[in-house]
Amino acid sequence: MKYLRIAKLLTAHVVGWGSDGGFGVRAGLGTLVAEVLVEELKEKSVNEIEVLAVVEEEGDSWMTPIHEYLTNETLPAERKKARAIKRKSQRFAIINGMLYKKSFLGPWLRCVGPSQANYVLREIHEGSCSMHAGTRSVIAKALRIGYYWPTMHKDARALIKACQECQVHKPVPRNPQEKLNPITSPWPFYKWGIDIAGPFPEGPGKVKFLIVAMDYFTKWIEAKPVATITGNQVKKFVWENIVCRFGLPGEIISDNGKQFRDNPFKDWCEKLCIQQHFASVKHPQTNGLVERANRSLGEGIKARLGKDNKNWMEEISHVLWAHRTMVKSSNGDTPFSLTYGTEAVIPAEIGMPTFRTAEVDVAKNDEALKINLELLEEKREQAAIREAKSKRQMEKYYNAKVRNTSFKPGDLVYRNNEASHAEDTGKLGPKWEGPYEVTEALGKGSYRLKDRNGKELPRTWNVCNLKKCYIHKM
Ligand SMILES: [Zn+2]
Repeated sequence: MKYLRIAKLLTAHVVGWGSDGGFGVRAGLGTLVAEVLVEELKEKSVNEIEVLAVVEEEGDSWMTPIHEYLTNETLPAERKKARAIKRKSQRFAIINGMLYKKSFLGPWLRCVGPSQANYVLREIHEGSCSMHAGTRSVIAKALRIGYYWPTMHKDARALIKACQECQVHKPVPRNPQEKLNPITSPWPFYKWGIDIAGPFPEGPGKVKFLIVAMDYFTKWIEAKPVATITGNQVKKFVWENIVCRFGLPGEIISDNGKQFRDNPFKDWCEKLCIQQHFASVKHPQTNGLVERANRSLGEGIKARLGKDNKNWMEEISHVLWAHRTMVKSSNGDTPFSLTYGTEAVIPAEIGMPTFRTAEVDVAKNDEALKINLELLEEKREQAAIREAKSKRQMEKYYNAKVRNTSFKPGDLVYRNNEASHAEDTGKLGPKWEGPYEVTEALGKGSYRLKDRNGKELPRTWNVCNLKKCYIHKM
């Protein structure tokens, strides 16, 4: 089905081929792929062409009047409307029959209608390489890869709010106990945080722990599942996943677990002139960055797996990928772009080509990438400035955060699973269970609840163990 979709979306490029002499100026990757796939299409039945309509837009959308004006100068009869369209169209252009919008900083944005927009959002939020990220990250990613539609924010918020997986697995909010201590790193890949997550359900090869490391500057994340945690395992991990990929680090920050503190790891670090710093387990704030990465790694895996979580190992690479290509709010860039100087191509882009994938020019691509690399240094500097700024804001935010919620009878809520123990707990169990209906508000944050069969629940439940449930409207 995916092949068919690509074929249909790319047929436009095949028309008018040859006019510039075969592999002319525009004969890029897109054209080559299209040619092969279009042949396959001939064999398929009518049925399967209808499947394409899932992503093809049907009927009029917000793009229709702009498209009509730009292709054959037809305007709506009403004068006011016509003038508005005329003005609006200045910021759009038709390239190969496709509508694009000029963006202020980034690439030309491919305009999409409602069902295509839904496909893009779903692919980014819950698709094959995603970790159920929040609204801002999803929108930033969609824009960055090059999609546009007028109601991006609203649509993303609605889709994510109603995502069942996200609601069940969202972490239980906890107010911070201590002031946050920001650390800024002098250069990419100089300072790494390293930590161990688990135990998880035992996977093939008896692996049940995850060694996780994150670069303080680019937020690039590396992880490896292991069966046991020994100094030798840690040594091997740092050698293979950090030194051999990013060069020698200057500092490694970890808790003072004995696999980090004692030999053979200690000696090994000394030999390579890597400074070790230890953050006490009792004061996780110092080591907060890795703790946080660890948590989001666990959350991402959980949301992807649902409740059947025997395959956590196979999901790791997807979650790592999603983490690396998602914009980090602390520095406004993706770890991938800070590492390689350009954005990665993700599956949504192939399913529905953006300007970048549809118009790739093999000869010029290399040159453009070189320019990107030249700009990388500047990009990293800007990211460092943004990061320092965001850390100041984060401190402020942590000190002012107060939680304030109330419910009324008839509201649907989830219960904190740690408090109710209604579902399996443990590291990969759901954080929330339900939904239940509020039957009575008793004041001071306590509530009576009933389940979906109308049965009243024993005890009253405090607001700190409840959260609002949003139901899918499909
Ligand atoms: Zn989700």
